[in-house]
Amino acid sequence: MTEAGASAGFSRNAAKVLRRPLARAEAIGLICSTYLGEVDREDLLGRVGLAGYASASGDLPDEGGEGRVPRCSRTSSQPVRDPQLVDRIKVMYGHACQVCGARVETQHSHYSEAAHIRGLGGPYHGPDRLSNLLCLCPNHHVEFDRLAIYIDEDWAVRRNSTGDIEYQLKRHTDHAVDQQYLKYHRGLCGRG
Ligand SMILES: [Zn+2]
Repeated sequence: MTEAGASAGFSRNAAKVLRRPLARAEAIGLICSTYLGEVDREDLLGRVGLAGYASASGDLPDEGGEGRVPRCSRTSSQPVRDPQLVDRIKVMYGHACQVCGARVETQHSHYSEAAHIRGLGGPYHGPDRLSNLLCLCPNHHVEFDRLAIYIDEDWAVRRNSTGDIEYQLKRHTDHAVDQQYLKYHRGLCGRG
């Protein structure tokens, strides 16, 4: 590269063009799809300060608190989530939602969210363990967190507003969901 006289950075004109948001987005998209097809785009763009370009909607939503968005802990008692546990449950279910079975597709992979049944933070102080986790699609994660659905003693997923059974919870043989946490969640749902 020295022999070729290579230098880093953009030409003045290119830099000017790249100041335009659309051009910048197009350039990043083109570079990623042309040269970086197999690269974890979210991770890469996050590391170079361009996290918002990892999805069409901009900054990716927080995956129930255990996403890749860096966050600072406010106090020493802030719950710590184990990212390996999150990965484990997602891999176990192949990113398929335990409620509806949907696998949300991304360009090169799939997307799912690891939901704590009994929340880690106060006032819940639930444990960070596999038996307190579910692999959910974003919609059902929100519905579960916002108490629109709950899971009964027979693993039926019920709509809280009606009590109607909508699904049967899918459970992997290596995943022992602890009913005590679901019971806690049912309590929050007013179904205790
Ligand atoms: Zn779902």
